[in-house]
Amino acid sequence: MTSTVFTGIGELVTNDALLDGADHSEHLGRLSDAAVVVADGLIAWVGPASQAPPADERQDVGGRAVIPGFVDSHSHLVFAGDRSQEFAARMTGVRYDGGGIATSVNATRAASDDQLRTLVAGRVAEMRAQGTTTVEIKSGYGLSVEDEARSLRIAAEFTSETTYLGAHVVPPEFANRRSEYVDLVTGEMLSACAPHARWIDVFCEPHSAHAFTDDEARVVLSAGRDAGLGLRVHGNQLGHGPGVRLAVELGAASVDHCTFLTAEDVERLAAASDTTVATLLPGVEFSTRSPYPDARRLLDAGVSIALASDCNPGTCYSSSIPFVLALAVREMSLTPAEALLAATVGSAKSLRRKDIGVIHVGNRADLTVLDAPSYLHLFYRAGVPIARALDLVGSHGR
Ligand SMILES: [Zn+2]
Repeated sequence: MTSTVFTGIGELVTNDALLDGADHSEHLGRLSDAAVVVADGLIAWVGPASQAPPADERQDVGGRAVIPGFVDSHSHLVFAGDRSQEFAARMTGVRYDGGGIATSVNATRAASDDQLRTLVAGRVAEMRAQGTTTVEIKSGYGLSVEDEARSLRIAAEFTSETTYLGAHVVPPEFANRRSEYVDLVTGEMLSACAPHARWIDVFCEPHSAHAFTDDEARVVLSAGRDAGLGLRVHGNQLGHGPGVRLAVELGAASVDHCTFLTAEDVERLAAASDTTVATLLPGVEFSTRSPYPDARRLLDAGVSIALASDCNPGTCYSSSIPFVLALAVREMSLTPAEALLAATVGSAKSLRRKDIGVIHVGNRADLTVLDAPSYLHLFYRAGVPIARALDLVGSHGR
């Protein structure tokens, strides 16, 4: 086992509420002039540089800030093809209703395994280059037994956070046979996909003819739970609907989008804040020119929130968490500290993970370095590529 001590950390954001000597004013557990020792891919020591223990190797980051790596808890990276024309049409006023997903399904089915693998690898590398160290990846552009299972097999080569989303939309060949498609998703397709998935998700959206109703979503989630999968829900994206109620009732780890919420929905989420996280995906509202979710209202009510990219070919082909953070502060009235916490600790919670999102002894050494002296520059210097995942040379990190 090789250990490395990272020194010259101008500002270390740990998110660790219990760290001795840290500034806890914004719940960021900040230390200046800090050092971190990493051994075997895990955090072995955190503290002031002057007290750092010896290690096999030493790497000076030159006064830069170091933060916990971003946890992108919602993405759809397994797809082929391009929908830039759909984006251009939307910018001239065409409304998004989920119909364009079929375009990506056709291109994904036509791609070879190697082509898909290369595309996913490129997108994961793009995320890492912008500071993301954990990514959840959904299927959902195969929508056949074989294509959903291979999407998840390929996703599992890149992350342990894989999500079966056979219930993304009803594919065109089942348009007049919806109940048969739900039977497939909860039967043969689930059996083929469950071995490669940790989670199941459903696009529960009564405002899209292509997505799933309250009753259909309940059947899908219940079957997934019976197969041993954790639950996630796409809900309340295009209008008011049953997504949040269903997610809370079934104990889902996350309900994602939460753009249109009633007062009752907010109360439900607040009461379930230990169990169910509201994951906000403002890149989608940006890319579909829609109103942003009311993050301030959720935080003030005591709801657990996360921020993620929703990187996908239709409604947000951006893999950038720094972009999401900038939107959350500029457009959704979060403070920089609240936004950073939501994209690290919050999104880790939505994946029911405690070993990521916080720089703490024993946790994974998932560190992101900023070409800046403080985490505030992530927001202050919006659009400038200052964040990148730190490579753990010689310490077996990944
Ligand atoms: Zn999504």
